[in-house]
This record gives sequence, structure tokens and C-alpha cells, in this order.
Amino acid sequence: MNNYKNDLSFARECDSKDPLAEYRSEFYFPTFHEKEVIYFTGNSLGLQPKRTKSFIEQELNDWAKWGVEGHFEAHNPWFSYHELLTSKAAKIVGALDKEVVITHSLTTNLHLLMVSFYRPEGKRFKILCEGKAFPSDQYALESQVKFHGYEPKDAILEIFPREGEHLIREEDILATIEAQGDEIALILIGGVNYYTGQLFDMKSITAAGHKAGAVVGFDLAHAAGNVELDLHDWEVDFAAWCTYKYLNSSPGGVSGMYVHERHASNPNLPRFAGWWGHDKDVRFKMEPGFQPMEGAEGWQLSNAPILGMAAHLASLTIFDEVGMPAISQKRDDLTAYLEFIIHAISSSSEKVDFEIITPRDKTKRGAQLSILAHGQGKDLFDALSASGVVADWREPNVIRIAPAPLYNSYEDVYHFGQRLKAAIC
Ligand SMILES: *Cc1c(COP(=O)(O)O)cnc(C)c1O
Repeated sequence: MNNYKNDLSFARECDSKDPLAEYRSEFYFPTFHEKEVIYFTGNSLGLQPKRTKSFIEQELNDWAKWGVEGHFEAHNPWFSYHELLTSKAAKIVGALDKEVVITHSLTTNLHLLMVSFYRPEGKRFKILCEGKAFPSDQYALESQVKFHGYEPKDAILEIFPREGEHLIREEDILATIEAQGDEIALILIGGVNYYTGQLFDMKSITAAGHKAGAVVGFDLAHAAGNVELDLHDWEVDFAAWCTYKYLNSSPGGVSGMYVHERHASNPNLPRFAGWWGHDKDVRFKMEPGFQPMEGAEGWQLSNAPILGMAAHLASLTIFDEVGMPAISQKRDDLTAYLEFIIHAISSSSEKVDFEIITPRDKTKRGAQLSILAHGQGKDLFDALSASGVVADWREPNVIRIAPAPLYNSYEDVYHFGQRLKAAIC
């Protein structure tokens, strides 16, 4: 868009027209700084919704009142508490209710899903992933292939950006799937890359993977609550995501798991089991012989951590009220304004060239922009932090910023530009 302006009254006018503006007051903004904090790290830890406290207090009060009887007698009985979250979470990722369960943590869920879906056999033993995947995913993949007796260097097929480029070309992913398809057991990619903010075309990667005979899963840590997803219709086999980034559901909060219904209703799929995945009608008979619940619930191991679940439920009520289409609309506009502001600051300074490595195309990104600060080092970032901007720095000189549509404003973006300009060394 070319009608943006780098001035405060323009930003305020955008805020006054923003249908989501009222949601800003639903969140606590950090108060540790003398200046008003500009919080652009919702891609790392989303802010606390004000309503979260009452959801957690409800459970603390019921625990105090009922003790163990709370499993069945609490206002929201803990025995089935996770069921309160399912349909709201399923809506966010575009899945059927039975394909989704909220449970455990993200890396745990990735492992549990790979136990079921990484089944190397003969020539088909490789895992295709994006180069520079999030470290936890890299370790999870490495340890899974070793667990099956392979060397990571033989079994992990990473797709990197081409020489001199920052983004992975989807054509390179698709070409590799086609060329080496009969050796690929599993494709597991971050739907939105944590470093560059690149959003992959999950539908075509899934179709290409299936055509080659591979299973296809996605890590949606940076995608859930950020971009619109249609996991069921895209026929994605499985996925997992954390809820503490764009989903604002408390530090280290619970995770989401998705298994397509064609697998979820197959009781013979190998899996690691625990009592919460066992058929709930006979769970308390405590008898041997695991009978998995139908659907994604059959991958649950343990009874639910209720306080973390309560934080997630609180946040999901906000997503349910607002809906992903409205979030997407604001995300695209706010991110485009941020892009405009960064270019404006960059072109007005001779000391710096800010190169945005995130795709320019709004259908290829979410709310994050990753900026390469040519001509500047960590001093720029430190000065930015000292001015009250909370952003993220990655070596050698990448600043990641994510304006979250639920609580960030156009005015935040304007002020960010002013502080960025002042921080240039
Ligand atoms: C944030 C993130 C994680 C974190 O994993 P946890 O198990 O929640 O600590 C893993 N993978 C990706 C891609 C992430 O962005």
C-alpha cells in the first residue's frame, strides 16, 4: 500500500478505525521500563490476557474447595477439562474437533507424533525438513533418526536457501520431494519459519509429499494463532504447536496436537501410550490392555495440567470472539505499515540499510518481520532495547519483530520507527 504515512496522527487515525483496537485493553503490557514498552515479541511469548487470572483462580478455588473431588465436582470438572478447549483450538488450525487435543508441551508432542508417523523402512528412511529449523526441532529429528539406528547426516535432508538468498524456495522443496521421494519417510517443516517469518504453502507441500508416498507433518509454533490454517482440508497428516507465542497462553504453556481423522481413528497405529489416551469409559477400571481413545485424544499420556489449561482456555475465548479472519486482516495491514515505516527510516539514514528478509508478499508471511541491519551491530539492538522496545536479536545482525494484531497498535508501529531511528549508531 502506498498511502501510509510516517506520522503520529496517521497512526492514530488507523487505530481509530481498527475494529480490534478495543482488544488492546484486554492485555497487560510490561511495566518494567520507565517509558511505555513497545512489545513486539508476541512471536516468542504472547502477553497476558487480563481475563486469564479469573480462569486460573476458578481452578485454584475449586482445588481449595474440593480437593480430589474436583476431578468430577469442580465447576469445570478436571477429568474432562481438556475437552473445553478442543473445538476452539480446532477452529484456529482448521481441523475437525476429533482431530485435535490440547496436551503436553510442543517438543514432547513432536516426539509422540514421530513415534507414530516416522516409520522408516528399507530405502524409505529420510526426514525432509527446512534448513535452520528451530533448535528443539533439530534435536528432536536427530534423536528420532538415531533411535531408529540411522545417522542424522544420512537420514536428515535439509532444504536451505540458495547461495546469497535468505528464503527457501518452495520450488526447491517440491523438486527435492520429487527427485528423492522414494527415500523420504517423513516431511516435517515449520509452517512459518521462526527465523525469517516465511510462511510455507502447506497445502502443496502436503500434496507433493503424499504423491511421493511420504507422511507430512508441520510444526505450527509460529503459525497457530498467526496465520489461517486448514489442516484437515489440506490433508496434513499431523501437526503440533505451542500456545505461548501468538496464542498468549502462559510461559511454557500447554501444546496442541492434530492428527488427521484417517489416522486418528486407527487404533492399530503404533504409539507411546498413557492412561489419558485410554478409552475414557473404562479408564478407571485400571486394567491392562491399552485401548486408545478415538481421535487425537488417543495420543494423550497424562491427566491435564489444569492451571496451564485454564490459561489457554482464557486466551481461546478471545480468539473465539474475534476469529482468525479478522485477526488476519489486521495482521496484514499492521505488518505492511511496519514494513513501510522500516523502509522510511532506512531511506532517511545514511548509516544503515535495513533489509527485510521476510517475504514481501503478504500471503507468504504472518505477523513477523525479520530485519537485517546492514552497517549496524548489536549496539543498535541494545539502544533499541534501552528505549523500551522489546524485540528479538539473532546473530549476526537480525532483528525479529512481530506486531501482534490482538494487542499491538498502529501507534506502536509509529513509535517503534521513531525509537529505531534514534537507536541508529
Ligand atoms: C518455540 C518453538 C519450539 C519450542 O518448543 P517447546 O517444546 O515449547 O519448548 C519448538 N519448535 C519451534 C519451531 C518453535 O518455534
